[in-house]
Amino acid sequence: MELELESILLPGIEDKRPIVISGPCSAETEEQVMETAKQLASKGIKIFRAGIWKPRTKPGGFEGIGVEGLVWLKRVKKELGMYVATEVATAQHVREALAFDVDILWIGARTSANPFAVQEIADALEGVDIPVLIKNPVNPDLELWIGAIQRIYNAGIKRIGAIHRGFSSFDKKIYRNLPQWHIPMELHRRIPNMPIICDPSHIGGKRELIAPISQQAMDLAFDGLIIESHCNPDKAWSDASQQITPEVLECILDTLVIRDEKQSTENLTQLRKQIDELDNDILETLAKRMRVCEEIGVYKKEHNLSVLQTARYDELLQDRIAQSLSLGLSEDFLKTLFVAIHEESVRHQMEIMNK
Ligand code: PEP
Ligand code: MN
Repeated sequence: MELELESILLPGIEDKRPIVISGPCSAETEEQVMETAKQLASKGIKIFRAGIWKPRTKPGGFEGIGVEGLVWLKRVKKELGMYVATEVATAQHVREALAFDVDILWIGARTSANPFAVQEIADALEGVDIPVLIKNPVNPDLELWIGAIQRIYNAGIKRIGAIHRGFSSFDKKIYRNLPQWHIPMELHRRIPNMPIICDPSHIGGKRELIAPISQQAMDLAFDGLIIESHCNPDKAWSDASQQITPEVLECILDTLVIRDEKQSTENLTQLRKQIDELDNDILETLAKRMRVCEEIGVYKKEHNLSVLQTARYDELLQDRIAQSLSLGLSEDFLKTLFVAIHEESVRHQMEIMNK
């Protein structure tokens, strides 16, 4: 999809991976905001995040400080020279954030999942030029994520980025939100010129996962990281278990290995050529296999045999899967592959039967 986007980089932000946005889950008190921002600024962080309005799963929790916190963000801008970013979930939030000169807006995961809410925000953004970052919806629905991006784009916003914060699931064994990396990767394939920022804090849900998830994001060529930090993480009013001190953040950023997406060496070109040739062989072999299936289809029709021969199919599937170990391929992969091949064979034979 071709979107005519402009860079989300604000003046003075270096065009270098990763773009880093950090700050507390929520603005709690003026002291907490100023102290966290001061420590972050001293570590070279240029974009400060803080939630002013907090969508909480259950009532009774801290739902954000509201407009009062915008005054503190303005102080962060003025006294520390940082850019500030916050989440907006309604048209009123947009108006208030803009009135207080917030530099970057983001749309949270619960909001991205609701087209009415996104449209309301989009309408409030008509005629405004500000970077907007759109988190993935809580459910793993790429089209819904793209739909939210399109609504904001159609409102005339050109500086758009996506935030990958993982997807809700019942299973919370390792991650708070499953990364399902293939979804942001597919988003990148569909809208290649849109930067994607990873949110390891909300994916991991715990401090110790922030470093490995950030590294994975860099290995997958993400453009940036949004990481929750707090001057006193254990005392945070929301998401305490996933917040880190600015000092730990610095340490994590220093140890990240940043690999280059674009540079390709001579060796890589050679290997890619081999891959292209092998893929061609696979496709030719598959086409040949389908021709044989069609001959079988003709035979079955002439002899009044059913297309689906369950026993034969089962035997074939077991045999191919059994080869997985010696081929160094996973059972799951071989199963998916042969189920798909069989489905296509059945489709070809059905056409012959119904001719
Ligand atoms: C947040 O960034 O603090 C937040 C509420 O995130 P999400 O919308 O990803 O749950
Ligand atoms: Mn949070």
